[in-house]
Amino acid sequence: MTFSTYICRLLIMEIRTLPLVAIRGAVVFPHTDAILTFGRPKSISAINAAFQESRVFGIFSQKKTSNPDPAFEELSKVGTVATITQMMANEGEIHAMVRGQARMKLVEGIAQEPYLIGKVEELEEVDTKSIELDAITNQIIELFRRSINMGKPVEVNTVMKLLSRQADNMEVIDSVASLLDITWKEKQGLLSELSTRNRAEKVFEILSSEVREMEIEKSISQKTHKRFEDQMRKAMLREKKRTIEQELGEGGEEEILDDTTEYDEKIKKANLPKDVKDRAKKELKRLRQLSPHSPEGGYIRGYLDWLLALPWSKSSPSTTSIKKAEKILDDDHYGLGKTKERILEYLSVLKLKEMNKSTENHPTILCFVGPPGVGKTSIGRSIAKALGREFVRASLGGIRDEAEIRGHRRTYVGSMPGRIIQSIRNAGTNNPVFMLDEIDKLGTDYRGDPASALLEILDPEQNKEYSDHYIEIPFDLSKVIFIATANVLDSIPLPLRDRMEIIRFTGYIENEKYYIAKQYLWPKQLKVHGLNEKDVKINEKALRYAISHYTRESGVRELERTLAAIARKIARLAAEKKKYPKAIKVEDLNKFLGPIKFRSIMAEEEDSVGMSTGLAYMPTGGEIIFIEAAIMPGKGNLTLTGQLGDIMQESAKASFTWAKSHWKELGLPEGFGRKIDVHIHVPEGAIPKDGPSAGVAITTALVSALTGVPVRRDVGMTGEVTLRGRVLEIGGVKEKTIAGHTAGLKKIVLPKNNKKDLEDVPENVKKEVKFVFANDVRDVLKEALIEKDEKFIPSTPSFLANA
Ligand code: ADP
Repeated sequence: MTFSTYICRLLIMEIRTLPLVAIRGAVVFPHTDAILTFGRPKSISAINAAFQESRVFGIFSQKKTSNPDPAFEELSKVGTVATITQMMANEGEIHAMVRGQARMKLVEGIAQEPYLIGKVEELEEVDTKSIELDAITNQIIELFRRSINMGKPVEVNTVMKLLSRQADNMEVIDSVASLLDITWKEKQGLLSELSTRNRAEKVFEILSSEVREMEIEKSISQKTHKRFEDQMRKAMLREKKRTIEQELGEGGEEEILDDTTEYDEKIKKANLPKDVKDRAKKELKRLRQLSPHSPEGGYIRGYLDWLLALPWSKSSPSTTSIKKAEKILDDDHYGLGKTKERILEYLSVLKLKEMNKSTENHPTILCFVGPPGVGKTSIGRSIAKALGREFVRASLGGIRDEAEIRGHRRTYVGSMPGRIIQSIRNAGTNNPVFMLDEIDKLGTDYRGDPASALLEILDPEQNKEYSDHYIEIPFDLSKVIFIATANVLDSIPLPLRDRMEIIRFTGYIENEKYYIAKQYLWPKQLKVHGLNEKDVKINEKALRYAISHYTRESGVRELERTLAAIARKIARLAAEKKKYPKAIKVEDLNKFLGPIKFRSIMAEEEDSVGMSTGLAYMPTGGEIIFIEAAIMPGKGNLTLTGQLGDIMQESAKASFTWAKSHWKELGLPEGFGRKIDVHIHVPEGAIPKDGPSAGVAITTALVSALTGVPVRRDVGMTGEVTLRGRVLEIGGVKEKTIAGHTAGLKKIVLPKNNKKDLEDVPENVKKEVKFVFANDVRDVLKEALIEKDEKFIPSTPSFLANA
């Protein structure tokens, strides 16, 4: 309906003069029946007058229910024209059944006495027909049906009429409106709404929330009922159990009573700080209030056990003697000169602080970085020994969930404190040496960033009040000496790296391994296996053979395991009273350890074309690698194989470009690169290889293949190459040169800027290997390629010569 037709309709409404009645706290809707009771004299007179005439009168809700005799202004704006269908007078009151006919409004008040008389105008409704209205009405009926099914109290006749759809939309909506569980003011709002569509929507909304409430109520009462039944059942079973136990003379009740008094005792005896004690008492009180069989009791006991077990105020006494520390470090470890020195400095600072009673916490956190088995953990243990403190470790490798470090909240079933607090409990003191292993292998995911939890732990400002999610009460970690360990530096999150002082552990050379094995590992393994050093010896040759042929590593872990295997076998022979060698020789190794596992990679036997010797730094230590280059007629493609990482592939591309742009110098035809394909391969195992430091070796192999000039077999090389041929600094010089030396290389070419690293290279390596420093890739080629006129006639592939 348009707005103009709506106005027209309003204009043609009938105006009538009617007796009026004010009612309190109720609203009568058109199309509905209502029973009203009138007691006020004015209302009674009006009803009587109306009954004697046309039975028609007007009903208005009065705005204020407290007003005994409201005037016209105090009536609501919209009222209802109604007819009296039945009437009964009783003890000064009138009960009347009335039926609402239409909405109306007061146009003019005519008289206030003996009752209210006024001119009223009927209001016609708008928006009474549309598909949407039909749809909403149907939904209202559906909702209404549900509410009835759930027990909404409604008179049967009304229900039948509405549900059988005998009524029209307006009738349905007004009827349902009159039955809604809302205040009279809200009902008045619905009465005043002239748009049927709007009214229908409001009614639908109110009825839906009513139905929802009823459904929730129903499900709650069902659950409550079920819980009540469960509890009753359990109480009965418990009572039965108690009776049976009493009959059998087994007092279950007392046991539980003892348990809480035991906790009481423990709390009293434990030297807990005040806040922890208060908390423990509070928890114990909760425990006592619980039913003895409640599962919650188990959680509280677990928590109390943790509170009681943590070393809140238990410390190891401080006994730092630098002399003693030095002796312990030397006794336990061979070599490691610089590392030991740095650790002694660290311990001296600690001692000074203790002596001066400095309140500032340990400013440095040490981080030991190096390959596995080089003595990081073992040095950590020695530090603890030197300080007379406990030693604990927590491995952080692979942790992705912050909760593993910080604990799960107690609301989780099976929750526990995190690894830090667990280790502190294991330490039994609050000032242990705490090793955080594999800090470079922390992960992150949606469950929080474990690195950020570590930052807090390692920050002396924050770790005084370290809060574990499970324990909830802050624990003071400031007295703990944290030492982190990692295999590689690069993958330690930067903010963490900044907090720590890095101490590098490089790998051992064979000679060092020999002494470590002889002086430490072998005696240790004999002792562990119940053998005596005097009974079994191992000769030098055998030990060196075991190192080079049964292990390949930077550290000595594998070696220790190998020696343990020998000791174990001998222990068995000894136990079985069988014969065993008193001095182990190389020949015996095969018997104890099986066939050799590694042949040391030796430099190539012959000088060859298209193959160079590179030096690489792998997680297990230094290695030599061979780089092969082959060329064939083609279209300028470059193929790379041998599990090469992205950076190594880029190096190879750069080398090819360098060769192409230096065609003249290399004596190659112009544009040769477009007519050939190049294949570069790095053999030796399926070990992934990466890094830029193979640049010089790739260029050398490639140039050799292109020019047909062979590479000297005893020259090893390492260095990054730029597009313009400059040779850049690389890392791992010590390990690489040791590997080169072991493989029998006579000359090693290093980048010029790595000259300073020669300091770390062992003396015997420096003595036996000649070091050459290169600034440009041409310097490398000069050293590595055999001079053309020296021995070989270059044999540039013929297809290239014709290119
Ligand atoms: P990491 O923690 O670096 O992986 P470990 O500390 O576990 O290595 O060392 C492995 C084994 O090697 C230990 O038994 C350790 O005592 C021994 N070890 C390592 N380096 C030395 C050394 N310099 N002197 C004596 N023993 C060593």
